[in-house]
Amino acid sequence: MTGTDRRVLIVGGGPVGLMTALLLADSKIPCTLFEAEAELPTDLRASTFHPPTLDLLDRLGLAAALIRRGRICPTWQIRLHETHERAEFDLAVLRGDTAHPYRLQCEQANLSRLLLDEVRRMPTVELRFGARVQDATQDADGVELQLEDGNRVRGALLIGADGARSTIRRAAGQEFDGTTYPETTILATTDFPFEQHLPSLSNVNYVWTRHGTFSLLRLPDRWRCSLYPDVNQPVEEALRPENIEARLQEIVARPVPYTVLESRAYRVHMRIVRDYRVGRIVLVGDAAHINSPSGGMGMNGGLHDAFNLVATLGEIWRGAPLDLLDRYARQRRPVAEAEILSQADRNRSRMQERDPARRRALLAELQQIAADPARCHAYLLRSSMIDGLRRAALL
Ligand SMILES: Cc1cc2nc3c(=O)[nH]c(=O)nc-3n(C[C@H](O)[C@H](O)[C@H](O)COP(=O)(O)OP(=O)(O)OC[C@H]3O[C@@H](n4cnc5c(N)ncnc54)[C@H](O)[C@@H]3O)c2cc1C
Repeated sequence: MTGTDRRVLIVGGGPVGLMTALLLADSKIPCTLFEAEAELPTDLRASTFHPPTLDLLDRLGLAAALIRRGRICPTWQIRLHETHERAEFDLAVLRGDTAHPYRLQCEQANLSRLLLDEVRRMPTVELRFGARVQDATQDADGVELQLEDGNRVRGALLIGADGARSTIRRAAGQEFDGTTYPETTILATTDFPFEQHLPSLSNVNYVWTRHGTFSLLRLPDRWRCSLYPDVNQPVEEALRPENIEARLQEIVARPVPYTVLESRAYRVHMRIVRDYRVGRIVLVGDAAHINSPSGGMGMNGGLHDAFNLVATLGEIWRGAPLDLLDRYARQRRPVAEAEILSQADRNRSRMQERDPARRRALLAELQQIAADPARCHAYLLRSSMIDGLRRAALL
């Protein structure tokens, strides 16, 4: 292939698409990125960065800037609201495994902005914002995108990083098998200092209450509260300020109303495609797999996909056969299934547990793990996504 035909086409300018563009630029592989929105999407989404993701960002010189914008969280806990009993996990046991033995709480839009700034400096990356892709086709020589504005663009390879409702996934003929969980989650942020009212709170807390469950994650200047309305309550009702207020009052009762800075509702799914690669089309991030945000792994997993895929593409650009792309699929799909979707599903089920006796048994088991250095180390290697990356490298 010659001229513009040799470019890699990326659809989607979320964190995974932008990361893929930056890594391709680093490998001197020319690419064009198409993002449907005119501006970077900045809606309230991921906030947890796991240690190996920070290690990977460090390779690009981006970890320090992200860490400055976020809050370092050396511990996380699962607790019973009424009694304050808890199991607390200290990531310091991962010191020998990572240069970042903590979780970072930082809005994902911060990473997208950092990535966009970098990508804009790269002469081999062409960025097209406000460019919605409608369809894609492929033949023996390349791929072709059909844009909403009527234009067509050809390239050598197509990377679908266009999120959960991926057009590229559909164009590749892939189903998105799995389930949608029954509950809706309300995410609300507030500047109320929960840490001054709930004893021994970590910066990351998953909490069982008499009424159900909630989680509290601490950003530099606010808390993110995930609230679970009753399954039967319609979303519009759950999102009403008075209903969010009622949920927050159940966490810490106070005489004056909470200041809610932002709120949104979201549904939780567990889905994965069968094939990450179909000919010259490859899927990454949410376009390939989505999971419960419990444990904060979706975006992290998507970023890990990008690093793996671009390492493979580098070899192909240097002359390896196109079928080497199967290695990306072989290494990343089983890890997404076993380490991301299943773990997120277990995290969600644990917090959905309502039976007090069963909760006590779960808490006791977690406390035992946290107190035993060897078990705690093994547990955190897995929940911090280090095991997943190591496993992928062996496949
Ligand atoms: C409330 C919430 C909390 C979360 N918390 C965490 C967490 O703590 N940690 C974690 O790791 N993950 C978390 N996640 C998941 C995380 O947000 C996603 O995994 C992540 O955004 C996926 O990134 P992506 O780039 O693959 O897709 P997206 O971020 O969805 O980006 C896709 C991009 O493609 C663009 N696009 C779509 N269709 C087209 C088209 N046809 N043409 C051109 N462009 C198109 C979209 O505009 C968008 O910009 C959370 C998710 C939610 C909803």
